Amino acid sequence: MPKNFNHDFSDSAANRNGNARKRAKKRSRLNFPALPKLSLPRLPRPGLFPVFGALIGFACIMLFISTGSDDVSARSQPHEEWITPELSLAADGSSQTTQTTLQSGDNAISALMRLGFDRKTSHNIISAANSSYKLRNIRAGKSFKRVNSRHGIDLFYNIDAGQRLHLSLPSGEKTWQSKLVKRQVFTRQHMSSGSIEDSLFSSAARAGMDQRTTMNLVDIFAWDIDFARDMRRGDSFQVIYEERFDDDGRTLESSILAAKFVNQGQEFMAVRYEQSNGKVDYFDPDGKSMRKAYLKAPVKFSRISSRFKLKRKHPVLGYTRAHRGVDYASPSGTPVHAIGDAHVSFVGWKGGYGRIVQLRHNNRNHTTFYAHLRSYGKGIKKGARIRQGQVIGYVGMSGLATGPHLHFEFRSRGRAVNPLTVKHPPAKPIEKAEKQRFLQQTAPLLGDLKQPPIQYAWG
Ligand SMILES: [Zn+2]
Repeated sequence: MPKNFNHDFSDSAANRNGNARKRAKKRSRLNFPALPKLSLPRLPRPGLFPVFGALIGFACIMLFISTGSDDVSARSQPHEEWITPELSLAADGSSQTTQTTLQSGDNAISALMRLGFDRKTSHNIISAANSSYKLRNIRAGKSFKRVNSRHGIDLFYNIDAGQRLHLSLPSGEKTWQSKLVKRQVFTRQHMSSGSIEDSLFSSAARAGMDQRTTMNLVDIFAWDIDFARDMRRGDSFQVIYEERFDDDGRTLESSILAAKFVNQGQEFMAVRYEQSNGKVDYFDPDGKSMRKAYLKAPVKFSRISSRFKLKRKHPVLGYTRAHRGVDYASPSGTPVHAIGDAHVSFVGWKGGYGRIVQLRHNNRNHTTFYAHLRSYGKGIKKGARIRQGQVIGYVGMSGLATGPHLHFEFRSRGRAVNPLTVKHPPAKPIEKAEKQRFLQQTAPLLGDLKQPPIQYAWG
Protein backbone atom coordinates (compact mmCIF):
# COMPACT_ATOMS: atom_id res chain seq x y z
CA MET A 1 0.00 0.00 0.00
CA PRO A 2 1.66 3.23 -1.06
CA LYS A 3 2.06 5.76 1.68
CA ASN A 4 3.29 8.73 -0.27
CA PHE A 5 1.88 11.51 1.77
CA ASN A 6 2.91 14.62 0.00
CA HIS A 7 2.83 17.36 2.52
CA ASP A 8 3.50 20.02 -0.05
CA PHE A 9 0.29 19.13 -1.75
CA SER A 10 -1.67 18.97 1.48
CA ASP A 11 -0.40 22.37 2.53
CA SER A 12 -1.16 24.00 -0.75
CA ALA A 13 -4.54 22.33 -0.84
CA ALA A 14 -5.31 23.83 2.52
CA ASN A 15 -4.13 27.26 1.41
CA ARG A 16 -6.20 27.38 -1.69
CA ASN A 17 -9.46 29.17 -1.31
CA GLY A 18 -12.52 26.99 -1.14
CA ASN A 19 -13.99 28.33 -4.31
CA ALA A 20 -11.04 27.36 -6.42
CA ARG A 21 -10.73 24.01 -4.73
CA LYS A 22 -14.26 23.05 -5.63
CA ARG A 23 -13.81 24.02 -9.20
CA ALA A 24 -12.60 21.32 -11.52
CA LYS A 25 -9.69 22.42 -13.60
CA LYS A 26 -8.12 21.45 -16.83
CA ARG A 27 -5.15 22.50 -18.79
CA SER A 28 -3.67 21.18 -21.94
CA ARG A 29 -0.27 20.79 -23.34
CA LEU A 30 0.07 20.38 -27.04
CA ASN A 31 2.60 18.06 -28.57
CA PHE A 32 3.15 18.15 -32.26
CA PRO A 33 4.95 15.78 -34.52
CA ALA A 34 7.46 17.41 -36.78
CA LEU A 35 5.70 18.75 -39.83
CA PRO A 36 7.13 19.62 -43.19
CA LYS A 37 8.13 23.24 -43.44
CA LEU A 38 5.45 25.15 -45.20
CA SER A 39 6.08 27.97 -47.57
CA LEU A 40 2.45 29.03 -47.53
CA PRO A 41 1.22 31.85 -45.39
CA ARG A 42 0.07 30.96 -41.93
CA LEU A 43 -3.56 30.35 -41.41
CA PRO A 44 -5.72 32.80 -39.63
CA ARG A 45 -7.51 31.16 -36.76
CA PRO A 46 -10.06 29.67 -36.24
CA GLY A 47 -11.97 30.18 -39.47
CA LEU A 48 -9.84 27.80 -41.48
CA PHE A 49 -9.85 25.19 -38.75
CA PRO A 50 -13.43 24.07 -38.99
CA VAL A 51 -12.66 20.68 -37.50
CA PHE A 52 -10.00 21.65 -35.00
CA GLY A 53 -11.35 25.01 -34.08
CA ALA A 54 -13.61 23.92 -31.28
CA LEU A 55 -11.14 21.32 -30.09
CA ILE A 56 -8.14 23.53 -29.82
CA GLY A 57 -9.94 26.69 -28.91
CA PHE A 58 -10.41 25.82 -25.29
CA ALA A 59 -7.03 24.15 -25.11
CA CYS A 60 -5.35 27.31 -26.38
CA ILE A 61 -7.15 29.49 -23.90
CA MET A 62 -6.04 27.17 -21.11
CA LEU A 63 -2.54 27.10 -22.50
CA PHE A 64 -2.30 30.87 -22.35
CA ILE A 65 -3.77 30.98 -18.89
CA SER A 66 -1.44 28.35 -17.61
CA THR A 67 1.73 29.88 -18.98
CA GLY A 68 1.82 32.27 -16.07
CA SER A 69 1.93 29.56 -13.46
CA ASP A 70 4.24 26.98 -14.92
CA ASP A 71 6.43 26.05 -17.81
CA VAL A 72 3.87 24.40 -20.03
CA SER A 73 4.54 26.87 -22.79
CA ALA A 74 8.21 26.02 -22.79
CA ARG A 75 7.39 22.49 -23.84
CA SER A 76 4.81 23.45 -26.44
CA GLN A 77 5.13 24.65 -29.94
CA PRO A 78 2.89 27.31 -31.38
CA HIS A 79 -0.40 25.81 -32.40
CA GLU A 80 -0.24 27.40 -35.84
CA GLU A 81 2.11 24.61 -36.84
CA TRP A 82 -0.78 22.23 -36.69
CA ILE A 83 -1.30 22.37 -40.40
CA THR A 84 -1.59 19.25 -42.47
CA PRO A 85 -0.52 19.28 -46.10
CA GLU A 86 -4.18 19.12 -46.93
CA LEU A 87 -4.98 22.19 -44.94
CA SER A 88 -1.97 23.97 -46.34
CA LEU A 89 -3.54 23.72 -49.77
CA ALA A 90 -6.67 25.22 -48.36
CA ALA A 91 -4.58 28.06 -46.98
CA ASP A 92 -3.97 29.32 -50.48
CA GLY A 93 -6.29 32.29 -50.68
CA SER A 94 -7.50 31.41 -54.17
CA SER A 95 -8.41 27.84 -53.34
CA GLN A 96 -11.88 26.41 -52.98
CA THR A 97 -12.79 23.37 -50.92
CA THR A 98 -15.85 21.18 -51.17
CA GLN A 99 -16.55 17.97 -49.35
CA THR A 100 -19.10 15.19 -49.56
CA THR A 101 -19.84 12.15 -47.43
CA LEU A 102 -21.19 8.88 -48.80
CA GLN A 103 -24.72 8.03 -47.74
CA SER A 104 -26.01 4.49 -47.62
CA GLY A 105 -26.71 3.23 -51.12
CA ASP A 106 -24.25 5.80 -52.43
CA ASN A 107 -21.08 4.98 -54.33
CA ALA A 108 -17.84 6.64 -55.30
CA ILE A 109 -19.17 7.74 -58.69
CA SER A 110 -22.21 9.52 -57.29
CA ALA A 111 -20.10 11.10 -54.53
CA LEU A 112 -17.57 12.38 -57.06
CA MET A 113 -20.33 13.71 -59.27
CA ARG A 114 -21.70 15.67 -56.32
CA LEU A 115 -18.28 17.28 -56.11
CA GLY A 116 -18.77 18.56 -59.64
CA PHE A 117 -16.97 15.94 -61.70
CA ASP A 118 -18.81 14.55 -64.71
CA ARG A 119 -19.38 10.82 -65.02
CA LYS A 120 -16.42 10.28 -67.35
CA THR A 121 -14.01 12.17 -65.08
CA SER A 122 -15.33 10.29 -62.07
CA HIS A 123 -14.53 7.00 -63.81
CA ASN A 124 -11.08 8.32 -64.72
CA ILE A 125 -10.44 9.26 -61.10
CA ILE A 126 -11.43 5.82 -59.86
CA SER A 127 -9.20 4.16 -62.46
CA ALA A 128 -6.30 6.44 -61.53
CA ALA A 129 -6.80 5.51 -57.86
CA ASN A 130 -6.78 1.78 -58.61
CA SER A 131 -3.00 1.45 -58.42
CA SER A 132 -3.07 2.82 -54.85
CA TYR A 133 -6.50 2.02 -53.54
CA LYS A 134 -9.75 0.59 -54.91
CA LEU A 135 -12.51 3.13 -54.54
CA ARG A 136 -15.22 0.92 -56.04
CA ASN A 137 -16.26 -0.72 -52.80
CA ILE A 138 -16.16 2.18 -50.40
CA ARG A 139 -18.95 2.51 -47.89
CA ALA A 140 -21.29 5.04 -46.38
CA GLY A 141 -19.71 7.44 -43.95
CA LYS A 142 -16.55 7.93 -46.00
CA SER A 143 -15.84 11.36 -47.44
CA PHE A 144 -14.14 12.97 -50.37
CA LYS A 145 -12.66 16.41 -50.21
CA ARG A 146 -12.02 18.39 -53.35
CA VAL A 147 -9.65 21.35 -53.34
CA ASN A 148 -9.40 23.59 -56.39
CA SER A 149 -6.36 25.84 -56.35
CA ARG A 150 -4.01 27.51 -58.76
CA HIS A 151 -1.97 24.27 -58.64
CA GLY A 152 -4.86 22.30 -60.08
CA ILE A 153 -7.39 19.98 -58.54
CA ASP A 154 -6.67 17.86 -55.50
CA LEU A 155 -8.92 15.15 -54.20
CA PHE A 156 -8.48 13.58 -50.78
CA TYR A 157 -9.94 10.41 -49.37
CA ASN A 158 -9.12 9.19 -45.85
CA ILE A 159 -8.73 5.43 -45.98
CA ASP A 160 -8.19 5.00 -42.24
CA ALA A 161 -6.43 6.68 -39.33
CA GLY A 162 -3.06 5.95 -40.91
CA GLN A 163 -3.50 6.49 -44.63
CA ARG A 164 -4.94 9.00 -47.03
CA LEU A 165 -5.46 8.67 -50.76
CA HIS A 166 -4.37 11.80 -52.58
CA LEU A 167 -5.47 12.22 -56.19
CA SER A 168 -4.38 15.23 -58.19
CA LEU A 169 -4.77 16.79 -61.56
CA PRO A 170 -2.05 19.46 -61.83
CA SER A 171 -2.97 22.58 -63.84
CA GLY A 172 -2.50 22.11 -67.58
CA GLU A 173 -2.35 18.32 -67.37
CA LYS A 174 -4.85 15.71 -68.46
CA THR A 175 -4.03 12.65 -66.37
CA TRP A 176 -4.96 12.14 -62.76
CA GLN A 177 -2.15 11.09 -60.45
CA SER A 178 -2.63 9.04 -57.36
CA LYS A 179 -0.57 8.37 -54.26
CA LEU A 180 -1.00 7.12 -50.72
CA VAL A 181 -0.02 9.55 -48.02
CA LYS A 182 0.81 8.62 -44.46
CA ARG A 183 -1.47 10.54 -42.13
CA GLN A 184 -0.15 12.43 -39.15
CA VAL A 185 -1.08 11.45 -35.65
CA PHE A 186 -1.21 14.27 -33.17
CA THR A 187 -0.93 13.87 -29.46
CA ARG A 188 -2.10 16.27 -26.87
CA GLN A 189 -1.39 16.07 -23.19
CA HIS A 190 -3.99 17.20 -20.71
CA MET A 191 -3.87 17.74 -17.01
CA SER A 192 -7.26 17.54 -15.38
CA SER A 193 -7.92 17.95 -11.73
CA GLY A 194 -10.88 18.36 -9.46
CA SER A 195 -12.42 17.36 -6.22
CA ILE A 196 -15.37 15.13 -5.60
CA GLU A 197 -18.60 16.95 -4.94
CA ASP A 198 -21.23 14.41 -5.83
CA SER A 199 -19.88 11.55 -7.91
CA LEU A 200 -16.52 10.84 -9.44
CA PHE A 201 -17.99 10.79 -12.93
CA SER A 202 -19.68 14.16 -12.71
CA SER A 203 -16.66 15.74 -11.03
CA ALA A 204 -14.40 14.29 -13.69
CA ALA A 205 -16.72 15.50 -16.43
CA ARG A 206 -16.58 19.01 -14.96
CA ALA A 207 -12.81 18.74 -15.10
CA GLY A 208 -13.14 18.08 -18.83
CA MET A 209 -12.31 14.39 -18.65
CA ASP A 210 -14.05 12.04 -21.02
CA GLN A 211 -15.77 8.96 -19.61
CA ARG A 212 -13.19 6.60 -21.01
CA THR A 213 -10.39 8.37 -19.16
CA THR A 214 -12.42 8.33 -15.95
CA MET A 215 -12.97 4.58 -16.35
CA ASN A 216 -9.24 4.16 -16.82
CA LEU A 217 -8.61 6.16 -13.66
CA VAL A 218 -10.94 3.84 -11.72
CA ASP A 219 -9.17 0.79 -13.12
CA ILE A 220 -5.73 2.04 -12.16
CA PHE A 221 -6.65 2.65 -8.53
CA ALA A 222 -9.16 -0.20 -8.21
CA TRP A 223 -6.80 -2.21 -6.01
CA ASP A 224 -6.38 0.60 -3.52
CA ILE A 225 -9.69 2.41 -3.53
CA ASP A 226 -13.21 1.07 -3.52
CA PHE A 227 -14.79 3.68 -5.77
CA ALA A 228 -18.29 2.52 -4.88
CA ARG A 229 -17.92 2.98 -1.13
CA ASP A 230 -14.79 4.87 -0.25
CA MET A 231 -15.46 8.12 -2.11
CA ARG A 232 -15.90 11.14 0.12
CA ARG A 233 -16.74 14.73 -0.64
CA GLY A 234 -13.45 16.57 -0.89
CA ASP A 235 -11.50 13.62 -2.27
CA SER A 236 -9.45 14.92 -5.14
CA PHE A 237 -7.79 13.76 -8.31
CA GLN A 238 -5.20 14.98 -10.72
CA VAL A 239 -4.77 13.19 -14.02
CA ILE A 240 -2.27 13.69 -16.81
CA TYR A 241 -3.47 11.96 -19.91
CA GLU A 242 -2.60 11.89 -23.54
CA GLU A 243 -5.04 11.88 -26.39
CA ARG A 244 -4.07 10.85 -29.86
CA PHE A 245 -5.87 12.41 -32.81
CA ASP A 246 -5.79 11.79 -36.48
CA ASP A 247 -5.30 14.81 -38.71
CA ASP A 248 -9.04 15.34 -38.91
CA GLY A 249 -9.15 15.91 -35.19
CA ARG A 250 -10.82 12.58 -34.49
CA THR A 251 -9.74 10.98 -31.22
CA LEU A 252 -7.99 7.67 -31.76
CA GLU A 253 -7.23 6.80 -28.17
CA SER A 254 -6.59 8.28 -24.80
CA SER A 255 -4.33 6.96 -22.10
CA ILE A 256 -3.50 8.10 -18.61
CA LEU A 257 0.20 8.89 -18.17
CA ALA A 258 0.11 9.64 -14.48
CA ALA A 259 -2.53 10.17 -11.86
CA LYS A 260 -2.97 11.07 -8.24
CA PHE A 261 -5.98 10.34 -6.12
CA VAL A 262 -6.45 11.59 -2.58
CA ASN A 263 -9.02 9.40 -0.86
CA GLN A 264 -10.03 10.29 2.68
CA GLY A 265 -6.73 12.05 3.18
CA GLN A 266 -4.63 9.23 1.84
CA GLU A 267 -2.71 9.91 -1.34
CA PHE A 268 -2.23 7.37 -4.11
CA MET A 269 -0.06 7.96 -7.16
CA ALA A 270 0.35 5.98 -10.32
CA VAL A 271 2.48 6.41 -13.40
CA ARG A 272 2.39 4.66 -16.74
CA TYR A 273 5.63 3.06 -17.76
CA GLU A 274 6.72 0.91 -20.65
CA GLN A 275 9.19 -1.66 -19.42
CA SER A 276 12.15 -2.57 -21.57
CA ASN A 277 10.38 -5.82 -22.43
CA GLY A 278 7.67 -3.69 -24.03
CA LYS A 279 5.01 -4.30 -21.41
CA VAL A 280 3.10 -1.23 -20.32
CA ASP A 281 1.71 -1.02 -16.83
CA TYR A 282 1.00 1.37 -13.99
CA PHE A 283 3.33 1.67 -11.06
CA ASP A 284 3.54 3.70 -7.91
CA PRO A 285 6.42 6.21 -7.70
CA ASP A 286 8.61 3.54 -6.07
CA GLY A 287 8.11 1.18 -8.98
CA LYS A 288 5.65 -1.17 -7.34
CA SER A 289 2.83 -2.40 -9.51
CA MET A 290 -0.54 -0.76 -8.94
CA ARG A 291 -2.08 -4.18 -9.29
CA LYS A 292 -1.73 -5.74 -5.90
CA ALA A 293 -1.24 -9.42 -5.44
CA TYR A 294 -3.47 -11.31 -3.07
CA LEU A 295 -2.03 -13.29 -0.21
CA LYS A 296 -1.27 -16.79 -1.37
CA ALA A 297 -3.42 -18.29 1.39
CA PRO A 298 -5.79 -16.97 4.08
CA VAL A 299 -4.18 -19.12 6.78
CA LYS A 300 -0.54 -19.62 7.65
CA PHE A 301 0.87 -23.00 8.51
CA SER A 302 -1.89 -25.24 7.26
CA ARG A 303 -2.29 -27.97 4.73
CA ILE A 304 -4.85 -28.09 2.00
CA SER A 305 -7.24 -30.89 2.91
CA SER A 306 -9.62 -30.53 0.02
CA ARG A 307 -9.22 -28.89 -3.31
CA PHE A 308 -11.54 -27.11 -5.67
CA LYS A 309 -13.51 -29.76 -7.54
CA LEU A 310 -16.61 -29.49 -9.55
CA LYS A 311 -17.74 -32.92 -8.28
CA ARG A 312 -17.02 -34.75 -5.06
CA LYS A 313 -18.81 -36.70 -2.40
CA HIS A 314 -19.65 -34.40 0.46
CA PRO A 315 -18.18 -35.83 3.67
CA VAL A 316 -21.21 -34.90 5.76
CA LEU A 317 -24.09 -34.80 3.34
CA GLY A 318 -22.87 -38.00 1.68
CA TYR A 319 -23.96 -37.12 -1.81
CA THR A 320 -21.91 -35.79 -4.66
CA ARG A 321 -21.77 -32.09 -5.15
CA ALA A 322 -19.29 -29.58 -6.35
CA HIS A 323 -16.71 -28.26 -3.96
CA ARG A 324 -16.27 -24.69 -5.02
CA GLY A 325 -13.53 -23.81 -2.64
CA VAL A 326 -10.34 -24.97 -1.00
CA ASP A 327 -10.26 -26.42 2.51
CA TYR A 328 -7.33 -25.62 4.74
CA ALA A 329 -6.99 -28.02 7.64
CA SER A 330 -5.84 -25.96 10.62
CA PRO A 331 -6.20 -26.24 14.36
CA SER A 332 -9.27 -24.59 15.78
CA GLY A 333 -8.54 -20.96 16.60
CA THR A 334 -5.97 -20.42 13.86
CA PRO A 335 -6.26 -16.79 12.65
CA VAL A 336 -7.80 -16.30 9.20
CA HIS A 337 -6.44 -13.40 7.16
CA ALA A 338 -8.12 -11.35 4.44
CA ILE A 339 -6.20 -12.09 1.25
CA GLY A 340 -6.57 -8.51 0.01
CA ASP A 341 -8.01 -5.08 0.78
CA ALA A 342 -11.78 -5.33 0.91
CA HIS A 343 -15.04 -4.49 2.56
CA VAL A 344 -17.10 -6.97 4.56
CA SER A 345 -20.16 -7.74 2.49
CA PHE A 346 -21.61 -10.39 4.80
CA VAL A 347 -20.86 -11.69 8.25
CA GLY A 348 -23.02 -14.23 10.07
CA TRP A 349 -24.40 -17.75 9.90
CA LYS A 350 -25.20 -19.18 6.50
CA GLY A 351 -26.47 -22.78 6.39
CA GLY A 352 -23.77 -25.37 5.78
CA TYR A 353 -21.10 -22.66 5.73
CA GLY A 354 -21.70 -22.01 9.41
CA ARG A 355 -20.08 -18.75 10.50
CA ILE A 356 -18.91 -17.07 7.36
CA VAL A 357 -17.23 -13.80 6.42
CA GLN A 358 -17.65 -12.61 2.86
CA LEU A 359 -15.36 -9.93 1.53
CA ARG A 360 -15.81 -7.75 -1.51
CA HIS A 361 -12.41 -6.73 -2.76
CA ASN A 362 -11.48 -3.32 -3.98
CA ASN A 363 -11.14 -4.85 -7.35
CA ARG A 364 -14.88 -5.17 -7.37
CA ASN A 365 -15.11 -8.24 -9.53
CA HIS A 366 -13.60 -10.30 -6.75
CA THR A 367 -15.21 -11.67 -3.61
CA THR A 368 -13.79 -14.15 -1.09
CA PHE A 369 -15.63 -16.39 1.38
CA TYR A 370 -14.19 -17.69 4.64
CA ALA A 371 -16.43 -20.37 6.19
CA HIS A 372 -16.83 -22.72 9.19
CA LEU A 373 -15.31 -20.06 11.44
CA ARG A 374 -15.29 -20.53 15.19
CA SER A 375 -15.51 -16.78 15.75
CA TYR A 376 -15.03 -13.47 13.97
CA GLY A 377 -12.14 -11.05 14.14
CA LYS A 378 -12.30 -7.75 15.98
CA GLY A 379 -14.45 -5.13 14.29
CA ILE A 380 -15.68 -7.49 11.59
CA LYS A 381 -19.12 -6.25 10.70
CA LYS A 382 -20.95 -5.60 7.50
CA GLY A 383 -19.42 -2.68 5.61
CA ALA A 384 -16.18 -2.66 7.64
CA ARG A 385 -13.07 -1.77 5.68
CA ILE A 386 -10.52 -4.55 5.74
CA ARG A 387 -6.83 -4.40 4.95
CA GLN A 388 -4.88 -7.20 3.35
CA GLY A 389 -3.66 -9.59 6.04
CA GLN A 390 -6.12 -8.38 8.66
CA VAL A 391 -7.52 -11.15 10.87
CA ILE A 392 -11.18 -11.54 9.99
CA GLY A 393 -11.91 -14.69 12.04
CA TYR A 394 -10.63 -17.92 13.51
CA VAL A 395 -10.72 -21.44 12.14
CA GLY A 396 -13.53 -23.60 13.52
CA MET A 397 -16.01 -26.23 12.40
CA SER A 398 -19.31 -24.40 12.43
CA GLY A 399 -21.91 -25.51 9.89
CA LEU A 400 -21.39 -28.73 7.96
CA ALA A 401 -17.81 -29.65 8.80
CA THR A 402 -16.29 -32.89 10.03
CA GLY A 403 -13.33 -31.22 11.66
CA PRO A 404 -11.79 -27.81 12.13
CA HIS A 405 -10.85 -26.32 8.78
CA LEU A 406 -11.24 -23.17 6.78
CA HIS A 407 -13.39 -23.40 3.70
CA PHE A 408 -12.17 -20.69 1.36
CA GLU A 409 -13.83 -19.56 -1.87
CA PHE A 410 -12.74 -17.05 -4.44
CA ARG A 411 -15.30 -15.64 -6.82
CA SER A 412 -14.72 -13.55 -9.86
CA ARG A 413 -17.79 -11.76 -11.18
CA GLY A 414 -19.85 -13.98 -8.89
CA ARG A 415 -18.48 -17.21 -10.32
CA ALA A 416 -16.44 -19.53 -8.12
CA VAL A 417 -12.94 -20.02 -9.45
CA ASN A 418 -10.18 -22.21 -8.14
CA PRO A 419 -8.18 -19.94 -5.83
CA LEU A 420 -5.14 -22.16 -6.24
CA THR A 421 -4.96 -21.80 -9.98
CA VAL A 422 -6.70 -18.51 -10.70
CA LYS A 423 -4.36 -16.31 -12.68
CA HIS A 424 -4.05 -12.89 -11.18
CA PRO A 425 -2.40 -10.22 -13.22
CA PRO A 426 1.31 -10.19 -12.53
CA ALA A 427 2.04 -7.57 -9.95
CA LYS A 428 5.80 -7.57 -10.17
CA PRO A 429 7.64 -4.40 -9.30
CA ILE A 430 10.08 -2.75 -11.69
CA GLU A 431 13.18 -4.93 -12.08
CA LYS A 432 16.24 -3.71 -10.20
CA ALA A 433 18.18 -3.33 -13.43
CA GLU A 434 15.52 -1.05 -14.80
CA LYS A 435 14.81 1.00 -11.72
CA GLN A 436 17.07 3.89 -12.72
CA ARG A 437 15.43 4.15 -16.13
CA PHE A 438 12.01 4.00 -14.52
CA LEU A 439 12.84 6.79 -12.08
CA GLN A 440 14.30 8.97 -14.81
CA GLN A 441 11.42 8.54 -17.21
CA THR A 442 8.66 9.00 -14.68
CA ALA A 443 10.16 11.90 -12.73
CA PRO A 444 8.80 14.68 -14.99
CA LEU A 445 5.24 13.33 -14.91
CA LEU A 446 5.28 12.70 -11.19
CA GLY A 447 6.81 16.13 -10.71
CA ASP A 448 3.85 17.66 -12.54
CA LEU A 449 1.49 15.84 -10.21
CA LYS A 450 3.28 17.16 -7.17
CA GLN A 451 2.63 20.75 -8.16
CA PRO A 452 -0.66 22.05 -6.91
CA PRO A 453 -3.19 22.20 -9.71
CA ILE A 454 -3.11 25.51 -11.57
CA GLN A 455 -5.68 28.15 -10.80
CA TYR A 456 -7.94 30.00 -13.11
CA ALA A 457 -6.86 33.62 -13.13
CA TRP A 458 -10.41 34.52 -12.18
CA GLY A 459 -10.95 31.48 -9.93
ZN1 LIG B 1 -14.82 -26.80 1.86
